[in-house]
Amino acid sequence: MGKTFVFVNQKGGVGKTTSAINIGAYLALEGKKTLLVDFDSQGNMTSGVGVDREKPTVYDLMAGTSPAAEVIRESAIPGLSVIPASIDLSGAAIELVDQEEREYFLKKALAPLQSTYDYILIDCPPSLGILTLNGLVAADAVLIPLQCEYFALEGLTLLLQTVKRVQKTLNPELEIGGIFFTMYDSRTRLAQDVVHQVTSYFKDRVFRTIIPRNVRLSEAPSHGLPICKYDALCVGARSYEKLAKEVLERG
Ligand code: ADP
Ligand code: MG
Repeated sequence: MGKTFVFVNQKGGVGKTTSAINIGAYLALEGKKTLLVDFDSQGNMTSGVGVDREKPTVYDLMAGTSPAAEVIRESAIPGLSVIPASIDLSGAAIELVDQEEREYFLKKALAPLQSTYDYILIDCPPSLGILTLNGLVAADAVLIPLQCEYFALEGLTLLLQTVKRVQKTLNPELEIGGIFFTMYDSRTRLAQDVVHQVTSYFKDRVFRTIIPRNVRLSEAPSHGLPICKYDALCVGARSYEKLAKEVLERG
C-alpha cells in the first residue's frame, strides 16, 4: 500500500509546489513509483514537470467523467507521473461546498491508485479551504514547508489547529509527517531565529535538511523540469535529494 503525503501551507509562495515536485522526483530516482497530484487550479505543479494543463485533469477524475488511466500523464523522469490541474479546479471548489461528503472527493478518486504507487504527493492551493481539506482527508501524513520569516510562525499555529480538527473528525489517521524550512538565507538573523524557535518547539517533527534559497530552483519550472534534470549538482538539487532521503527514512 502506498503512502500519501499532502503539502500544506495556507501561505502562497512558501515552496509547496517546488518541494512536492522535487521530493517526488528524487523518490522516483530512488526507484519508488511516485504520483504527483496537482490540486491547485494554478497548475504550477503540472507545468513544473513539463505537462500541459489540457483536460482531462484531476477535476475530471473527481467528477468521475474520466478514468485514472486517461488522467495520469508521464513526466520526463521514469517512475514519476502526474495528475494535472487546470483552472477548472477553482470551479470544483465552489461546486463542492454544498455537496454531501464534500471533503472526501479526492480520497475516493485516489483510493484505487494507492496499490499502484509507492508514494502519492498532493500539492495544495494556498488556503485552508475545501480543496486543502480534501487533501488532508486523502493523505496519510501532512508535510509543512515553512519559509523562514516571522509571519511563518503565526500561520503555523492556525495550520496545526486545522490539522487537529481534521484528525478529530474527518481523518483520524492523519499524521504530521514533518515541518521543513525552505528558501533559507543563512545571512539573515531572522532566518536563523525562526529555525531555532521552530526546532526547539517541534523537535524531531522538524526535518534536519534545510532547503536554501537557490536561483536554479526558481529557474527549473520554466523549463518544465524538476531540479535533478535541470541542474543536478546545484545546492538546491543536493538539498532536495537529502530531504527526499529523509522522507524515505522516516517512512
Ligand atoms: P507555493 O507552492 O507554496 O506557492 P512555490 O513552490 O511555487 O510556492 O514557490 C514560490 C516561488 O519561489 C516560485 O517562483 C519558486 O520557483 C520559487 N522558489 C521555491 N523554492 C525556492 C528556493 N529554495 N530558492 C529560490 N526560489 C525558490
Ligand atoms: Mg503552489
